[in-house]
Amino acid sequence: MALFEVPGWSVQAAPSPAISKKRKRGASTDDKLHSAETNLDKFVKKFISQTSYAEAFQKKKQKHGNKRESPIGPDSQPPGTVKNSKEGTERNSAKQEKRKKKQEKAKKKNKDPTKAFAHGTSSIDHGVAGLTSLQKGMKDSLEGARFRWINEQLYKSDSVEAVKLMQDSPENFHEYHKGFRHQVHSWPSNPVTHYVEELSALPKGTIIADLGCGDAALVRELAGKKQTVISFDLVSDGMYVVEADICSKIPLPGSEPQGSEKSDGVGQVVDVVVCALSLMSTNWPNCIREAWRILKPGGILKIAEVASRVEDVEQFTSLVNSHGFKLKSKDDRNSHFTLLEFKKVPRAMKSAKEWTGLMSRGDVLKPCEYKRR
Ligand code: SAH
Repeated sequence: MALFEVPGWSVQAAPSPAISKKRKRGASTDDKLHSAETNLDKFVKKFISQTSYAEAFQKKKQKHGNKRESPIGPDSQPPGTVKNSKEGTERNSAKQEKRKKKQEKAKKKNKDPTKAFAHGTSSIDHGVAGLTSLQKGMKDSLEGARFRWINEQLYKSDSVEAVKLMQDSPENFHEYHKGFRHQVHSWPSNPVTHYVEELSALPKGTIIADLGCGDAALVRELAGKKQTVISFDLVSDGMYVVEADICSKIPLPGSEPQGSEKSDGVGQVVDVVVCALSLMSTNWPNCIREAWRILKPGGILKIAEVASRVEDVEQFTSLVNSHGFKLKSKDDRNSHFTLLEFKKVPRAMKSAKEWTGLMSRGDVLKPCEYKRR
């Protein structure tokens, strides 16, 4: 599916996605891949720094017409060979002219090296300027492989492992979002844009919890407007995002029913919960349970999911409903996303066995894999 291909990223895909089936063996393959990626990263960095140095030297040489010493060392040019000689100077300027023409030709051919990243967000462009197309290709390949690898971990493991992945290396979060932004740019529409429009029409004072907010686009768009957005994700940006595992315990008030009588629980402050493409961990049903706990009576749960993940929409809605929700609307007109809206309804307390049963049904949503091409 074109949507989930990664343009310009053409290195070997991550090894077979057998993580959930053969946990132990899969884990060692992951380790190997990770270390291979780390080595490749080191190589690319070294390669880039070496060639950048060489390019800088070349530029410096052109600027000063070979008259100054080489940055490698004052004696690296044989003294007096061309210095102060008219013949030498002429030869130099002819050479410079030739080199300049060659560079201009190469520049035209390569165009702007930063343009190959069609999305063009500043953080993604960072460090790309000045790379040759070979270096940029390698950088893209490496980042593409990293993104796919992290994505696969997030979809094929539970949230405890997702938290660990981010804690072990917060870089993983940034690498993931770099790739995610890259994808979003190629989509015909984005669920967040849709939600910004919908939510900004809600009454003054509406409290919205954005679970798995990513770059916190929702709160950034709605900040200072009538509504209040509280955003949660695995890693905080130190500004808008509260760090939390949304499939474990969301740091907001609210309780569950304590007996066989149907109730809404007490203490909630949230009117609307948004889960935009964030039901990633295999234990995502626990996020639905948490959404119910923090929602006020009659509160709304909005879920946007990648269409290909929801193979059986009836099964998915029935599982969400079992947590104490009622499907209000379903919009699957978009070829890429399915948008569902649920209303919280009162329910009785559930036994540990019932919860275990619900939690074991995470496979109702298929993992979303991004293909290399
Ligand atoms: N909602 C945003 C981001 C989608 S990407 C948007 O639509 O633009 C999915 C996000 O869910 C990622 O930022 C990922 O870190 C987050 N996520 C996945 N599992 C999570 C978990 N268990 N706890 C917190 N955040 C989670």
